[in-house]
Amino acid sequence: MLVAVISRSHFNGLESLRVGRFQKKINTSCIVYRLGDLVVDAGPPNQWKYVQRFLKERAISRLLITHHHEDHCGNGAKIGKHFNCPVHAHPAAHKDLEQGFAVQWYRRMVWGKPERFKAEDFQPQNMTSQSGDFSLQPLHSPGHSPDMTCFIEPQRGWLFSGDVYVASRPRFLTEDENPGQEIESLRNLLKQDFQTLFCSHKGMVENGPAAIKSKLEYLLELQGEAQRLYQTGLASREISRQLLGKEEFLSLLSRGHFNKVNMIRALVHDCPVSQLHHR
Ligand SMILES: [Zn+2]
Ligand SMILES: [Zn+2]
Repeated sequence: MLVAVISRSHFNGLESLRVGRFQKKINTSCIVYRLGDLVVDAGPPNQWKYVQRFLKERAISRLLITHHHEDHCGNGAKIGKHFNCPVHAHPAAHKDLEQGFAVQWYRRMVWGKPERFKAEDFQPQNMTSQSGDFSLQPLHSPGHSPDMTCFIEPQRGWLFSGDVYVASRPRFLTEDENPGQEIESLRNLLKQDFQTLFCSHKGMVENGPAAIKSKLEYLLELQGEAQRLYQTGLASREISRQLLGKEEFLSLLSRGHFNKVNMIRALVHDCPVSQLHHR
């Protein structure tokens, strides 16, 4: 069961390493991208051995973190120490990265537990590789998490989307996600100039704008339907069953932290479930 999933790929100078622990499950592997000496995301803590081997292949000058979740920031402390490089993340992530944050047991099992570290904000002058070949522009895109940041490589039309996309038709949500904010971030992304999307879990998506658009349309439609049913007096659980089907094993495994009714509650009330008084 505890199989290491490791694969490498190259695309026009972009190198990537996919690492993870389980096979044939959604979202249980995560990708570290490398553009010359710039690294996007640190990989999950229990995959350090493979991430270190990958990063040792060439000098790295900076690590850029898309958001504070353990599959993305996990090796931030070790990379900073071993490669003596600064780590950058959105200011909304700094406290969690420095002081630690709650990681539910099912997430610890899949990814491990990250070490704490100090991160700096993104600075425009620090976002270009030393060779000058690659340059990244941060774009704050909250919703999946408050600190979520995408990176655009304007010359090549690449978008590093972190966990903004992942799937066109998500049915599950954690209590901390804010799909209302995510809808705004997806709208904002569609105004940007990019073509190829690099998702942290899905990998390369050739028609990036179409993928973002299909997720946006799905969420808007689901929100409209959920709010319409809510007006008729139905409870969130019943709406969830009608629109998304019965809860699945993931809900049980996460003790309700990651499930379908969270998606409906958050869309109906337009805020994360963690901020609602459960009823
Ligand atoms: Zn995430
Ligand atoms: Zn992730």
